[in-house]
Amino acid sequence: MQRFKALVASQGQPRLQLAWQELGEADLMDGDVVVRVSHSTVNYKDGLALTGKAPVIRRWPMIPGIDFAGTVASSSHPNFTAGDRVILNGWGAGETHFGGYAQMARVKGNWLVKMPAQFTPAQCMAIGTAGYTAMLCVLALERHGVKPASGPVLVTGAAGGVGSVAIALLARLGYQLSAATGRTAEADYLKGLGASEIVDRAELAKPGRPLAKERWAGAVDAVGSQTLANVLSMTQYGGAVAACGLAGGMDLPTSVAPFILRGVTLVGIDSVMAPMPLRIEAWDRLARDLDLGKLAAMSLTRPAGDVVALAPQILAGQVRGRIVLEME
Ligand code: NDP
Repeated sequence: MQRFKALVASQGQPRLQLAWQELGEADLMDGDVVVRVSHSTVNYKDGLALTGKAPVIRRWPMIPGIDFAGTVASSSHPNFTAGDRVILNGWGAGETHFGGYAQMARVKGNWLVKMPAQFTPAQCMAIGTAGYTAMLCVLALERHGVKPASGPVLVTGAAGGVGSVAIALLARLGYQLSAATGRTAEADYLKGLGASEIVDRAELAKPGRPLAKERWAGAVDAVGSQTLANVLSMTQYGGAVAACGLAGGMDLPTSVAPFILRGVTLVGIDSVMAPMPLRIEAWDRLARDLDLGKLAAMSLTRPAGDVVALAPQILAGQVRGRIVLEME
């Protein structure tokens, strides 16, 4: 039987233990598709899982990694055959089902998206769950009527993964963009992705008024907490804010004023349990609307063995853009 390497997280005292182990296919969890995983990535949630800073892992032992890209090795699912190139995002991978930090995975075929022909597996993981979530945010803004002509759009957590992909996508679609970042030294990077204005994130982190000057037609918010409250209070009449993240905190100290006096819409974005038609739409749109030159500019490639060291770095906001992990 074929052996493969996997990062196994187990419950230790006082904290979780992480060790690369050699496993066999029989060690994998139930599913109808076996995938040879060539690439994975490091998302913020992976950082939380690997450091134990939040209870992301809910079954022990666990192979962490909330996403992966690879090739089907065998399948009893009617939609997949050996050789198909596939992507998995979420569905509990790395939480309740063995995830992406392994060279093999066995999952439900109903969780898999066929890789768009335009992408390599490495590019799919340069996008990763962060980039697919950025696309879900863009789709949400579009559905709520935020158009390039509506006015400027703000992206918070701009130099991170969701933020970088959101800026690249929205710029390609013709939006005028403000990028809120704590890393003003990354202004040239963010302008290169398509931002025209850099906002110091400290401006959005202080308690503000229930309604402030209307600045943006819409926003993609990866930060939450006081930042999201201020973004809502600065969203123009009839605008929409896609909230996907909590990098600044899980709370939301806001009032109903933006909703009842300006008709602002707060749209919640979840990538983990998003229904399959929405996932397929998001990946199709990524294939159409993401500039691959910008994707390359925002991504670094690292060997899988670096993932444990990268986890605290992403939580500390020290990772710029996206990281691709080579699993082979
Ligand atoms: P990254 O770490 O790559 O990006 C987060 C960015 O947020 C940082 O780069 C930094 O940007 C900013 N940031 C970090 N800490 C703070 C803080 N204390 N206050 C204000 N800003 C801060 O993470 P991802 O892009 O992978 O994920 C972003 C968020 O989106 C996370 O909370 C993640 O859990 C969430 N997420 C949610 C998903 C969903 O399904 N809803 C799916 C994917 C991600 P800068 O340096 O530019 O200020």
